[in-house]
Amino acid sequence: MSSQSNYHYPDALGHFGKYGGRFIPETLYAPLTELENFYRKIKDTPEFLSELEFYHKEFTGRPTPLTFAENLTKHYGKAAVYFKREDLCHTGAHKINNAIGQILIAIKMGKKRIIAETGAGQHGTAVATVCAKFGLNCTVYMGEKDIQRQAPNVARMKLLGASVVPVTSGSKTLKDATNEAIRDWVTHADNTHYIIGSAVGPHPYPMMVRDFQSVIGTETKEQLQQITGKLPDYILACVGGGSNAIGIFYPFITDESVRMIGIEAAGEGTETKKHAATLGKGSDGIFHGMRTYLIQDDKGQVIEPHSVSAGLDYPGVGPEHSYLHDIKRVQYVSATDKEALAAVKTISRTEGIIPALETAHALAYLEKLLPETKSGEIVVVNMSGRGDKDLATIMNELHIE
Ligand SMILES: *Cc1c(COP(=O)(O)O)cnc(C)c1O
Repeated sequence: MSSQSNYHYPDALGHFGKYGGRFIPETLYAPLTELENFYRKIKDTPEFLSELEFYHKEFTGRPTPLTFAENLTKHYGKAAVYFKREDLCHTGAHKINNAIGQILIAIKMGKKRIIAETGAGQHGTAVATVCAKFGLNCTVYMGEKDIQRQAPNVARMKLLGASVVPVTSGSKTLKDATNEAIRDWVTHADNTHYIIGSAVGPHPYPMMVRDFQSVIGTETKEQLQQITGKLPDYILACVGGGSNAIGIFYPFITDESVRMIGIEAAGEGTETKKHAATLGKGSDGIFHGMRTYLIQDDKGQVIEPHSVSAGLDYPGVGPEHSYLHDIKRVQYVSATDKEALAAVKTISRTEGIIPALETAHALAYLEKLLPETKSGEIVVVNMSGRGDKDLATIMNELHIE
């Protein structure tokens, strides 16, 4: 691999190599430019950084621990495994890191209303939470099908005071909810901020979401340094839109010895049509305002993805991952529904941690990776969220008595 010491992405126009950019209706050009300029102006100021740190400490629950997976490590007798515990964040996943960052920006820009899209309801819950805390009006778009399969998160959002708008177009899932949120923003951008839930969408969102999530990697680096005095040899993270993965990868991109692996959802298998392995099986296209890899047919129509985990069930991926894939800085692999479900059981019973189904895809890959590692090496897995929201699915699929 060539040296990454000059990794400065995105460029001024929001490009990661040929990916990213801004493919949008003309009415969104002004609000996106306003957002970008405002964000660039304050993002590195000591005032903003200390405000963010304050809320992370007293509300999000940061820094999250880096836990040594002692039993798993002993079982394989090879590399030492550590979990970065985003499952211990308030609301149960890494999504709140981005929601807090963006709402602080929205408030400073004078916005009174927040909108968001959600699939499994984790991002919607994080946004409803910060809206309640900071007193902003909150509308969450959610596919009708997802509303039915994710009832506990719908209840959480409503209890927090958000209005949840059912989306009945298309497949009634995440991509349709995103279309609806964009449509709302086109007509209300003057008083409304749109909080996107992953490192996707038009510039500056992929950059901004990455920056807010990179607290995960920054903390990991410091914590591992304190515990072992070393850098990790491997970092693993699951990839849906790619926000938890880019959050833990980004601070290590210029550390060439660190091997980074993103795990996509292979659903029922990448040889079938029922998967969500965008980088593994997709091709270059334009979707939700960005140029990126996309699961599409030969006419450029998006193919409906499939995964047992609603959070990975997205036909696109963040443009920075498309770039990191092409330059081979990150290796992208996949795990099936079955492998992820098995990993939920294994990790619950060996380590006493019930992972989210999304996270379980990254954990499933340990079974392939660990036998190939050497003792003395270090593997960090981003534990992106906890499995409470998935209990009904897990118990149903695993037939646990
Ligand atoms: C939403 C979610 C994901 C997938 O989103 P990314 O943007 O790819 O991180 C992964 N894990 C959990 C627990 C989630 O809630």
